[in-house]
Parts: sequence; structure tokens; C-alpha cells
Amino acid sequence: MSRPDIAAETVAAIRAVVGVAQSDVALHAPSFEGREWDYVKDCIDTGWVSTAGSYVPEFERRIAAVCGVEHAIAVVNGTAALHLGLMMVGVRPGDEVLIPALTFAATANAVAHAGAVPHLVDSETGTLGLDADKLDAHLSTICEPGETGPVNRLTGRRIAAVVPMHVFGHLVDMDRLSEVAARHRLPIVEDAAEALGSRYKDRPAGSLGAIAALSFNGNKIVTTGGGGALTTNDADLARRARHVATTAKRAHRWEFDHDEVGYNYRMPNLNAALGCAQIEQLDGFVTAKRRLADRYVDAFAGVRGAHIFREPNFSHSNHWLNTMVLDADQADQRDAVLEATNAVGLSTRPVWKLMHRLPMYGDCPRMDLSVAEDLERRLINLPSSASLGGG
Ligand SMILES: *Cc1c(COP(=O)(O)O)cnc(C)c1O
Repeated sequence: MSRPDIAAETVAAIRAVVGVAQSDVALHAPSFEGREWDYVKDCIDTGWVSTAGSYVPEFERRIAAVCGVEHAIAVVNGTAALHLGLMMVGVRPGDEVLIPALTFAATANAVAHAGAVPHLVDSETGTLGLDADKLDAHLSTICEPGETGPVNRLTGRRIAAVVPMHVFGHLVDMDRLSEVAARHRLPIVEDAAEALGSRYKDRPAGSLGAIAALSFNGNKIVTTGGGGALTTNDADLARRARHVATTAKRAHRWEFDHDEVGYNYRMPNLNAALGCAQIEQLDGFVTAKRRLADRYVDAFAGVRGAHIFREPNFSHSNHWLNTMVLDADQADQRDAVLEATNAVGLSTRPVWKLMHRLPMYGDCPRMDLSVAEDLERRLINLPSSASLGGG
């Protein structure tokens, strides 16, 4: 049997979805079809452009509502949110933090910013996220109980937290992970940067751990230009996070009184104004993206040697990015597919290089990563702007 020309078939399938008339099709472009201009202009007209102003608390209320939690703290970006979130659950310099090897570099960077060491965990093919059972077996092999949590016998360091990341908006199997994390006494910090509007069973992403981090970077489903947020049901964590994010300044009418090392992480009002307008459209974005995902499934039904990744049955995904998966025996076609699609203006991207392939994380402790290594060769992201799923 001759080998399929996956590159040519992929170009045709993407064209069938996005329309042949489109020339330059972005991987993910934001949509500004709501009240963005009104709200941002209001900031400038009233002079409230910085960290004081009414859009910040309003944006926080809306984020908390979407995530089904009591508290949201808006910050300057998702990396800062993760950094703060890790500190809030007690990650200290010299600890290890469990993260997937298959993630965007920001997850590992936030761990490093907290002075801790990423400990890399394998993924599973059904969710693209952390494999809770494999993690459980790994921890049982390498850890001994310590006074403040499990200790990695191989490095002597405490393991202080686990960070599930919901890849492209698909939920990690959180019931399984929560059970494993509780048994090993590990707090969960959700990296929900890609999953705003997704649900695990009937529970929203952002409500599934001790604390969660969101991103509103320009390429995410909702953007504030740059921005992020922490979400939590824990009033004490929320209060401390807000304090540390605001230079740890104690409220006073004129004194500059700071009681610990603080961060300047608060989101400016201008960005929150954009975010308020964007979040009003979130339901529409998710609907459009789910429609787009269905169209990709149909269009790729005839592509030999590849298929479209489908959401796990417990995940109602926002389909932030749509992903094609090459068959195992077609992985060597990946770069040909990337070449052919980008050459005709259809933006496609491989998944991230695994964290241990990056020079700064090459020596990090890790388990067997064979599934993540297999996925790394086979995943390609497709144009996924909400505007492509309209009508
Ligand atoms: C976007 C993203 C972040 C945070 O990104 P910022 O650009 O700092 O807002 C963190 N983790 C993942 C998985 C992401 O995709």
C-alpha cells in the first residue's frame, strides 16, 4: 500500500474548514466584537488606567463567576498567577513541584521563579494531560513521608505541590488526580491557563484544586492584552495572594508600610476593561470553538494517517486549540505537514518541546516520559480562532 500524502490531505482538510478564500489564517486571533472599545475608552476618559479603578474588581467578579469560585485575583499575566499560586500553597525555595513534561514553558518557569525545581511527569493519550496512575506509582517508588509532605529519596528534596495543566482546554482526569494528590499530601495548583470556560463533569476549570491560574494573553480564549488571574475558594489564600501581589502594602491613608517581600503583580484597569468586554462573549467563543472542532472532525474523517483529538468524555472543553494527531507510524510526516500548511498561509504549530529538552530544565528530576515523548512527535495544532467557527 502506498503511503498517504498526509501533508496534501491536511491542507485540503483545513481549507475545507476555514474556507478556500482565506489566505493568511492565524493559529489563534482574538475577536473584538463586543464592548471593548467603550470600556477601554471609559478608562481613559475617567483617568482610571492603572491598578485602582472599577474594572479590576468587576473583572474579578466575572472570572470568579465563570470558574464557580468565591475569589479571583487579577494579575499581570498567567506566569505571575502561577508563581503566586505556588507560593500560596507553601512552595518554598529548594522544593520540587510536579508538572507535566508536556506543557508550555511558563509552567516550569513559574516553578523556577518560586525557587523550586520542576519534577517532570508523563501524560496520557486520552487527555494529553498528567497521568495520575503513573504519577501515583512513581511517587510510591521514589518518595518517603516527611514531616511537611513527601520527600524525594533520590534528591532529598520535599515535593511541595502538583500542577495539572489542561492541555488546549481539555481537562485532566481530576477525580483520579485529586485522590492521588490527597493520598500523597500534595496540594493541587491548577494551570488552567488554556481552559477558561471548560468543565470537568459539571465543575468549571479553575475550581478543581486549592488554587488555579488563568492567562489572558493575546492568544488565549479571552484576552486582556496581557493578564492572568488566580481563582480559589479559600478566603485566606485569596487575601494573602492579593496582599503579596500588591507590594505587600498594608492599608493606610498615607504610610508606605510593607510587611513582607511583595510583588507588583496587580492587573491594570485598562487591561481589566478589555477583559470585562471579552468575558461577556465567552459563551459565544466556546460555542464557536466547539462548532469549529466538529467541523475539523468531519473534514479529517477522510485524511489517512491522522485524526482530530476529541475531548475526553468527562471534559466539556473550550477547544482553545484544535489538534491533529498523526498515527504512530506516520510521525515522520510531522515536519512535512507543518511545511506544507505554513507555506500556503495556514498557520499550524507543533506541540511544545518537552521541558527536559530545554537547556535550563535538562537536569530536572523526571519519571519515564514515553507517552509525552510519543505525543511530542505526533501533535499538530490547527487554526482555531473563534471567528472561524462562526455561523
Ligand atoms: C499561556 C500559558 C501560561 C501563562 O502565560 P502568560 O503568557 O504568562 O499569561 C501558563 N501555562 C500555560 C500552559 C499556558 O498556555
